[in-house]
Amino acid sequence: METKKNKLTIAIDGHSSCGKSTVAKDLAKALGYTYIDSGAMYRSVTLLCMEHDLIDGEQVNLVALKPLMENLSIHFTFDVEKQQYITWMNNRKVEHKIRSIEVANNVSVVSKIDFVRSKLVAMQQEMGKQGGIVMDGRDIGTVVFTDAELKIFMTASPQVRAQRRFDELKAAGHQLTFEEVLENIEKRDFMDANREIAPLKKADDAVVLDNSSLSKEEQLAILIDLVEQRSN
Ligand code: C5P
Repeated sequence: METKKNKLTIAIDGHSSCGKSTVAKDLAKALGYTYIDSGAMYRSVTLLCMEHDLIDGEQVNLVALKPLMENLSIHFTFDVEKQQYITWMNNRKVEHKIRSIEVANNVSVVSKIDFVRSKLVAMQQEMGKQGGIVMDGRDIGTVVFTDAELKIFMTASPQVRAQRRFDELKAAGHQLTFEEVLENIEKRDFMDANREIAPLKKADDAVVLDNSSLSKEEQLAILIDLVEQRSN
């Protein structure tokens, strides 16, 4: 019988809003693995900063943020009825708030802070230490799980990504325009790829998946094929 130990660690990195989390969730479900959304963790810290009024443009009050990071807890639950993952920060449900455009507009200035990254990376490594996980983000294959058995680097054109994210946010009740979403995606990609620590980049051993013209089902089939190859 298969045990948790011989289950793989799967790292899915890539550009903003390219459908990483959708395919990562589908893959985790198909394999019976745990899904972890590392972006939700950076978004949660960003919300915490905003609630404490620690962000002023590109500046973050690091002195005030440090003790908050030391006491931070983040965990995820799954709402079976809604078939939705829920993010909790300091035992408070933050799932809806962390998806807002305001959080998305501030997250890249928070995610480039060294002590934020080291704390969240340690939490992610702890969550995934037993294997049998699919984790998506920007640095999962390059920093968090450098020895992951399967690394994917996902991308799609900015227009396609903005449209998908716009539809998703609208459906979840957020008020915003397509242009706001496109601008946010392009800006985040630039900041994520150009930051000093753990910039968004393809790991040397990652498989590139451009899903601009692939359906959800086609992407899942490609990934399941890759998992089967890596499991042999
Ligand atoms: O994946 P998502 O779009 O929710 O990520 C939000 C932001 O969190 C990214 O734009 C990036 O700044 C940051 N992030 C990161 N490293 C990760 C995951 C997300 O820096 N592993």
